[in-house]
Amino acid sequence: MRKTVLFIEGDGIGPEVMKVAQPVVNRAVEKAYGSERSLEWKELLAGEKAFRETGEYLPQSTLDALRGAELAIKGPLTTPVGKGFRSLNVTMRQTLDLYACIRPIRYFEGIVSPVKHPEKVDMIVFRENTEDVYAGIEYASGTPEAMRIIDFFRSELGVNVDVTAGVGLKPMTPKGSKRLVRKALEYAVAQGKSSVTLVHKGNIMKYTEGGFREWGYEVARDEFGDRTVTEKDAAPGTDRIVVKDRIADAMFQEVLIRPEQYSVIATTNLNGDYISDALAAQVGGLGLAPGVNMSDTLAFFEATHGTAPTIAGQDKANPGSLILCGAMLLDHLGWHEAAALIHNAMNRAISAKSVTVDLASQMEGARTVGCREFGDILGS
Ligand code: NAD
Repeated sequence: MRKTVLFIEGDGIGPEVMKVAQPVVNRAVEKAYGSERSLEWKELLAGEKAFRETGEYLPQSTLDALRGAELAIKGPLTTPVGKGFRSLNVTMRQTLDLYACIRPIRYFEGIVSPVKHPEKVDMIVFRENTEDVYAGIEYASGTPEAMRIIDFFRSELGVNVDVTAGVGLKPMTPKGSKRLVRKALEYAVAQGKSSVTLVHKGNIMKYTEGGFREWGYEVARDEFGDRTVTEKDAAPGTDRIVVKDRIADAMFQEVLIRPEQYSVIATTNLNGDYISDALAAQVGGLGLAPGVNMSDTLAFFEATHGTAPTIAGQDKANPGSLILCGAMLLDHLGWHEAAALIHNAMNRAISAKSVTVDLASQMEGARTVGCREFGDILGS
């Protein structure tokens, strides 16, 4: 079986981590299945390379290819500075309707963590990716749009808004929230996870964040009723998935103090942005933080980190996040044996303390290796 993976190498450290990651993933597939299965990598242009070659940062041909694809992976992209440029990442997420951003948080023994018991951290964050304050509906203070909205609030609704305010919208729909929570529940069922926690600020924002909580419980009750139970109705030791909810600020405290009580987290766009970075920091930071953006047809893997311009081209970047994206991709295909080989290799490299500088600088007695050598170790 041969599966096609579209890839965008990305800007900054993107090309070097992509170049290291692909052979590691190929090698794992080869070791697990010999010549019976393989990946075919096909490059798409985006970012600075695309601009150099086509004059556009995000060519239409790239979007068209992604629209018809099942699997893709990308390195980080720089957002060109200056007005008139939208983030390429946000454009791709919205154009391709990549509504779920999924980030596993997994601890590798030996990583230096700011928390006392990182070995108890085993969570996965499902973040809604298209709605909320990130929908990009925002007007600067003093613009005619902002003034008209403020005027409407004052005259029609009697709500007193400061006339100098910038104004933004936080749109959240039952459809957008439910499809995200559905994905989280499907995952919990497939992986035999113990709980799904809906994280929200519904105490303050009742109709948006509170809506997310309510719609989340509805999906659990209406579509997964025989496999889930709410926290308040759960008998001790239940074999059903316990669906619970937490207020976002309390949840930040909870994941530090009682990480073992949380497994799958389903949350809104802004909460998810914060919580996934905070959780990644507990288990090794940006060098070990993979993720995927999913639509109903496309799984588009990307590392959580950016282009790290200050270390680009110096063989210092940690390719770990992109390599772990590769393992996620293999798991997504059901090629679990190959994915496990990558996780085992990562465990071995970290136990042997042969790691890139971002990790080595925190580990006593570690040997610093370059991006390429780290890839060689993981692929060997
Ligand atoms: P960044 O993630 O690039 O860097 C933050 C810090 O982490 C830096 O100190 C960097 O050196 C370090 N770092 C990041 N990845 C690393 C790795 N793999 N190995 C070792 N160290 C690593 O974030 P930033 O500086 O805020 O952003 C730089 C650029 O990246 C910006 O243009 C931003 O728009 C872009 N960005 C892109 C994406 C994406 O494409 N998904 C995500 C975030 C930022």
